[in-house]
Amino acid sequence: MLVLSGGTGTPKLLWGLKEMISPEDLSVVVNTAEDLWLSGNYVCPDIDSVIYTLADMIDTKRWWGIKGDRTLTHDFLLMLGVEEKLALGEKDRAVHIFRSDLLRQGVKLSLATEALTKGLGLGQKVVPMTDDSVSTFVSTSEGVMHFQDFWVARRGRPEVKSVKIRGIEKALPSQGFLDLLEKEDTVIIGPSNPVSSIGPILSLPGVRERLEDKRVIAISPFVGDKPVSGPAPKFMAASGVSADDRGVASLLGKVDTLVVDKNSSYGGNCVRMSTLMRTKRDSLKLAESLLKLVDGV
Ligand code: GDP
Repeated sequence: MLVLSGGTGTPKLLWGLKEMISPEDLSVVVNTAEDLWLSGNYVCPDIDSVIYTLADMIDTKRWWGIKGDRTLTHDFLLMLGVEEKLALGEKDRAVHIFRSDLLRQGVKLSLATEALTKGLGLGQKVVPMTDDSVSTFVSTSEGVMHFQDFWVARRGRPEVKSVKIRGIEKALPSQGFLDLLEKEDTVIIGPSNPVSSIGPILSLPGVRERLEDKRVIAISPFVGDKPVSGPAPKFMAASGVSADDRGVASLLGKVDTLVVDKNSSYGGNCVRMSTLMRTKRDSLKLAESLLKLVDGV
């Protein structure tokens, strides 16, 4: 099974799916447009959340970072006057050092990610959407800023005028992504932000065309007409669509089955399920319903 993922909503679904699918049958292609260099290391927020989820290490209170991790280096950096944008934990930072050392030696992000998943003993494939550099920039009432500056440093407060994925036109899907698109007949679009998480994956040259002859099943990140977390409403309004399941459907484009929450007011063609995942049990239940849908049961 091939799943397209961001860093929060889809990992919650993967938390359930990983218990029901053999590791070798589960592949995840992950957004890299939120990646950034921080304190000398390359941080891939979405890839890390996916990997930590599959390794059962994710901090499920925040859906990023490693549970029980401590922030000694971050705290000391702050004391030294360094304003590190994200409060990185020690183990999390070790992962960034591991990756960045490889990148500095000229290794591609795909291979560095593969090495990381091996190091953590994972059997699933985790594939960056591209090996090229792409970054999400948000044009706001307070100027143009990187996604992390908008969402973390300014807590998503500024008014959003537009969202641009810099470098996307020249970026190519990674070879691993292309191989999976060749091999898989069904593609699951997880419940992630349709503008800043799934948008970049679908915008890579040739991806939408390749989805035309696949069976595409998407799970909406809206629950009962509201997103569970994140800046989706502002980003969707700035992209010219309504901030609801209808807007999700129009941004995603070719989808054969859209799964919406049972309380959604969406009137279009869809399948309804309980899509809110607050506990492992919720994730398992949604994963089970999704697998039944895939198998046509
Ligand atoms: P990011 O990379 O951290 O921005 O994360 P994602 O794009 O993967 O996830 C953010 C989206 O996940 C938001 O639009 C949320 O509404 C959605 N989301 C978070 N939790 C849930 C959930 O339990 N169910 C559903 N359906 N969506 C969720």
